[in-house]
Amino acid sequence: MNSVDSSKEDGARYFLRCAGCGKTCAGKAYELYCVDCGKNALLVSQYQRAADSSLPSDSFERYAPYLPFENTLGITGPTMACVHAEGLGESLGLERLWVAISGYSRRWNSRFRSGTFKECEALGVLNRVSEQTDKLLMIASAGNAGRAFLELGASSDIPVIVAMPASAAPLLSAQARNDRSPLLLLLEDAYYPDVIKFVEGALENFSTDLVREGGCFNVARRDAMAVPFLRAVDAIGKLPDWYVQAVGSGTGAVAAMESIKRIASHRGEPAATRLLLVQNAPFTPIVDAWQLRDRQLPRFEPDYVRDRVSSIRAQVLSNASPPYAVKGGVFDILAESNGVACAVDNDEIEAAQRLAERELEFVPCDASSAALAGLKKSIARGDVSKDDLILLHLTGGGFEELAAVEGAHPYSNRVLANHSDTETFYGAISAYIGRVRNK
Ligand SMILES: [Zn+2]
Repeated sequence: MNSVDSSKEDGARYFLRCAGCGKTCAGKAYELYCVDCGKNALLVSQYQRAADSSLPSDSFERYAPYLPFENTLGITGPTMACVHAEGLGESLGLERLWVAISGYSRRWNSRFRSGTFKECEALGVLNRVSEQTDKLLMIASAGNAGRAFLELGASSDIPVIVAMPASAAPLLSAQARNDRSPLLLLLEDAYYPDVIKFVEGALENFSTDLVREGGCFNVARRDAMAVPFLRAVDAIGKLPDWYVQAVGSGTGAVAAMESIKRIASHRGEPAATRLLLVQNAPFTPIVDAWQLRDRQLPRFEPDYVRDRVSSIRAQVLSNASPPYAVKGGVFDILAESNGVACAVDNDEIEAAQRLAERELEFVPCDASSAALAGLKKSIARGDVSKDDLILLHLTGGGFEELAAVEGAHPYSNRVLANHSDTETFYGAISAYIGRVRNK
């Protein structure tokens, strides 16, 4: 690792600091882990200057000063919406409810081509991989992230391998253009935890050609996912009292908390925003551990996970091994923010979806609806006060509108097999690597 002093001397825009030991590095060599702390701590971007841009506040590009890549792929980011939701607020008894809408809505001018804020993650990770490695990216997805990587990869001609449960196979507006277009692996009879395990094996098997995203450990993923939050703070004019989001891995919430601290530090204010994180019962590992104030997540048997995950409505919230105990991870952000973690069931999610549709003319995805249901529950419990300034992040939705306007088709460059059929998938990966390398 290079020392921070050399980074500062050559005028670098940012460097990375380990949340565990404080060691720094330049962050230009696709570092995912601290050389000393490994997977026990997150690296965190340190930006030398506050964002200063004349670009419109709803444009992704305005927030480039807070991103650890240069967008050499030239991907246009989404137009992002954040609104003072008076009608929805009134129905919840809140006067100061703001809603960030990271989906697809012409009404609110939210234009995420993939319908979720995972598009920010894809934009960030594809660029950082391209700028800092010569390897091919492979990711595991429960649905939304995969959809975003495929959409951006196909429309911008960027190779990437995406694995996801066959049941989550997305409909896309972009299509494969050539044999370098993203490769989609659909695992039958698989839940997200099965896909994560499969991708780990593939990364090991093709270690000279493939590179991992690194999940929460990838600073480009976190910082890019924080952009809708930055846009929301611009719209509100200040940091909120509460930030409300549904969590699977919790990476988006970690990213928001890092932004809260960055903004507070640049403005010389305390980072007083509290986090309200929501999961879908009966699979709520983060909620369960946090309620016990336990830094370690419970260990789950695979059958237990499959059983619980199979009955939740918001499948994207099904991460069985979120970055919880890691230094700088979910436990720490809940502790630092005096946060609350809340579980909601499928019926509460459905009711919240209907409420949002009525009040916002926008149909949030199941995960976003879980966030709204969690807010409603936390008001009833007295965790959230009615005069608090609240930012609710609806991290995806508007899929029907998106499909009607932009089109929705099954993605053609796909391989479908049982999740245990490693031979078929490895054959497809090997052939794809050959095609990409030979161009
Ligand atoms: Zn360290």
